Amino acid sequence: MTTWHDYVQATSRLPEWPYPLRFGKVKEVVSDVLVIGGGVAGCRAAISAAQNGATVALAERGNAKRSGAGGSGVDHWHGACTNPCSRVTPEDYTRAVFDSAHGYTSGPVRYISTREGWDTLQEAERLGVQIRDVGDEFKGADFRDDESKLMFAYDYLNRHILRIWGFNIKPAIFREMQRLKVDIHNRVVITSLLTENGIQGNRVVGATGVNTRTGEFLVFHAKAIVISTGSAGRLWSFVPELTASSSMSDMNNCGVGLAIGWEAGAEFACMEQTMPGRLSGFGYAPYSMANAHNTYHGTPIVDANGKEVPWVDGSGNELKSVAERFLPGPKQKFILGDGIGLASYNEEYRNNSLAPDLPERIRKGEFTLPLYADMSRLPEAERRVIFNMMLTNEGKTRVPIFDTFTRAGFDPEADMLQAPVMLPQGYAHSNFWGAGVNAPANIRAQSGGGFLVDWNLRTSLEGLYAAGGAPLFGGGCHGESHTTGRYAGRQAALYARGAAVAKPDKDQIQRELCRAQAPLAKPRDGIGWKEINYAIARIMQDYCGAYKNEQTLNAGLRLMQDLRETELQAAYASNPHELGRLLECHSLISVGELIMHASLSRKASSRHLDFYRLDYPELDPHEWAMLLPIKQLGGQAMIRELSLNHHLEAPYNGDYEQNYRQHCGL
Ligand SMILES: Cc1cc2nc3c(=O)[nH]c(=O)nc-3n(C[C@H](O)[C@H](O)[C@H](O)COP(=O)(O)OP(=O)(O)OC[C@H]3O[C@@H](n4cnc5c(N)ncnc54)[C@H](O)[C@@H]3O)c2cc1C
Repeated sequence: MTTWHDYVQATSRLPEWPYPLRFGKVKEVVSDVLVIGGGVAGCRAAISAAQNGATVALAERGNAKRSGAGGSGVDHWHGACTNPCSRVTPEDYTRAVFDSAHGYTSGPVRYISTREGWDTLQEAERLGVQIRDVGDEFKGADFRDDESKLMFAYDYLNRHILRIWGFNIKPAIFREMQRLKVDIHNRVVITSLLTENGIQGNRVVGATGVNTRTGEFLVFHAKAIVISTGSAGRLWSFVPELTASSSMSDMNNCGVGLAIGWEAGAEFACMEQTMPGRLSGFGYAPYSMANAHNTYHGTPIVDANGKEVPWVDGSGNELKSVAERFLPGPKQKFILGDGIGLASYNEEYRNNSLAPDLPERIRKGEFTLPLYADMSRLPEAERRVIFNMMLTNEGKTRVPIFDTFTRAGFDPEADMLQAPVMLPQGYAHSNFWGAGVNAPANIRAQSGGGFLVDWNLRTSLEGLYAAGGAPLFGGGCHGESHTTGRYAGRQAALYARGAAVAKPDKDQIQRELCRAQAPLAKPRDGIGWKEINYAIARIMQDYCGAYKNEQTLNAGLRLMQDLRETELQAAYASNPHELGRLLECHSLISVGELIMHASLSRKASSRHLDFYRLDYPELDPHEWAMLLPIKQLGGQAMIRELSLNHHLEAPYNGDYEQNYRQHCGL
C-alpha cells in the first residue's frame, strides 16, 4: 500500500484516525520558562534559558527537529559583525539598517543580532554545524579567508556575512535541546496566553494549547514566556494548495504568536507595513528557476540570444567584471546584503544587482525573453560555491533542486536555467522564481512589524519576551533569529530566577478550553477551516490590499467581526488536525484586525513602509515620522506616538554599546 489513493481504492473506506483521541483531557505542564514556537529562534531560546539554569518547556506546532522556515537549512548567515575578518562593527551595521529603514526598525533588535551573531554562530559550530571550509575546497578563492577558513557572501571586502554549511542546523540545535532536557511538546498549537488573574495587560503566566494529533488540551504554567512563532502566512492568500507563503515557508506559521499577544494586551509596532506577496503560491519552487538573487547573487543572466544583462553597483554604475559584483562601489561604505527584513536600502549600503531598468530595456527589444542563468560564465570557484555549496545547504534546495537537477544530468558548466516568462516589470526584482508580477497586486505579506520590545527583548507585558523573524518588530533573517532567540531565552531565564510563581486564573483556562473544543460539537453540515481561511484571505485582499482608505479598512474590520460571530461559530472540526487549523483561523482573524487597526492609525502614506492610503496620499509627511505603538484592551485599539529614536532616548542612554552592556545579562 503506497499511496492514499491505493488505500482508498483497495479498502473503499477512509483510514481510521491513527492516534488515540483525548478530547476533553487536560494536561498541565510546569516550567520556569515556556518557549512558544520551536523554529530556530525558539530552539535557541530554549537552549539559552536552560543554560541559564531555568527549567524549560517548548511547544511546537510541527516537530522541532525540522520545523519552521529555517528547518530545511541555511546557506548564509547575516550580521556576524564581530567575526575576526569583519570590517563592520555592530554599531555601523545597526545605523546602516536604521538609516535604510528611515527609522522604521528596532535599534535594539538590530544591535543585539549583530553584537552576538558571531558568538551564536560559533556555538552552532560547537554543536556540529560546519561554518568553515575545513576541507580546503575553496582555498585561494576571493570569498575565503585562508587563515580562519571562513567564507563570505555579498561583500568580499567587509566580510560580515558568512557562507555556511547549514543544512543540518536544526537537527543540531534540536539534539542540544534534548541534551539539556528541554521538555519538548511537538504537534501542539498554542491558542492563548494566560495572564495574572485573567486580566488583559497583566503579567503573562502561562499559555494554552491543543495537541493536533490527540486533541488533548494543554495548560502551560511558566514564570516567563518567549514567543517565536514566525510569520503570518495564509493571511492574504489561501486556496487549499495555494497559500500566501507558498512552498517557500512553513504553513504552520500563521501569526498565532502575534494574535495571542494582541489578545493579551501586548503592544506592537509597524503592523501597518506590508510588502507584495512576492513569495506567494503563484511563484515557483525556491531557486528552481534562473535568477540572480540571494543564493544566486552574482549569477550572469543572458537573454534568448545569449546577450548578457549588465550588473550595476548600488549607485547605478555599470560593473565590468564578475569580481565587482561582490564588492562595494566607490560611493559605498559596505554592502548590507539582501533578505534581512528591509524594504529599502540607502545608496551607501545597497547591493549590486542586475540593471534596474531591465524591464524598460526588455520592452524596447534590447533583451529578448526568455532569460537564462548562465553559470558557465562564472569563474570556477564562484560557480562551485553557488551550485555545489550554497544550493546543498540553503533551505528547500538540497533535495528538490540540487539532487533532482543533478540526477537529471544538469551541469552548471554547460547548461542554463530558464527564468519564468513574465510581463517585463516582473524583472525589476532579481528574484525571478518568486511570484513577481504573476501574483495579484492585492496579495500582500506581513513585513517588518511585530512585538515592540525593549533592550531586554521584553514586550510591554511583564514576563513576555519575543524573538525570531516576524513576531519581533525589526527581526531579520536566519542568523538574527537564532541570535535574538538566544538573547531572549537568557533574559527570560534571568527574569524567572527572581519571579514569584503566579497562579493562573481558573475561569480564563475554562473559557479557553470551551472555545478550543467547541468546533468538535458543531453539526457537520457547517463549514470547515479551509472555507474560513479562504474568507479571511479574501477580506484582507479586498479591504487591506495594496491601497486602502478609512472606508475599506472599517469595512474589513466589520467583515472580520461578522466572520468571527457567524461562520466561525458554526465551523466544525472532525479531528484534531482540523481543530488545530480552525483555531489558527481564529488567530488569523485577530492578526488581520491588528493590521487593519494599525493601518487606520497612520493617516498618511509612506513609501518607507510600502503603505498607501488613498485618502491620505501625501508620502512620508514629516509630522508622521514616528512609530504608532498599538495594543488592544477590552476590544478597543489603543495607539500612542513614539519617537523613532526612542531606544537611544531616556530612560535609555544615547549609546548602543552602553545600552547593550546594561541589559545583556552577561
Ligand atoms: C526556504 C528558506 C530559505 C531561507 N534561507 C535563508 C538563508 O540562507 N539565510 C537567512 O538569513 N535566512 C534564510 N531564510 C529565512 C530564515 O529561515 C528565517 O528568517 C528564520 O527561520 C526565522 O526563524 P524563526 O524561528 O523566527 O521562525 P521559524 O523558523 O519559521 O519558526 C517558527 C516556528 O513556530 C512554530 N509555530 C507557529 N505557530 C505556532 C503555534 N501556534 N504553536 C506552536 N508553535 C507554532 C512553527 O511551527 C515554527 O516551527 C530562509 C527561509 C526559507 C523559508
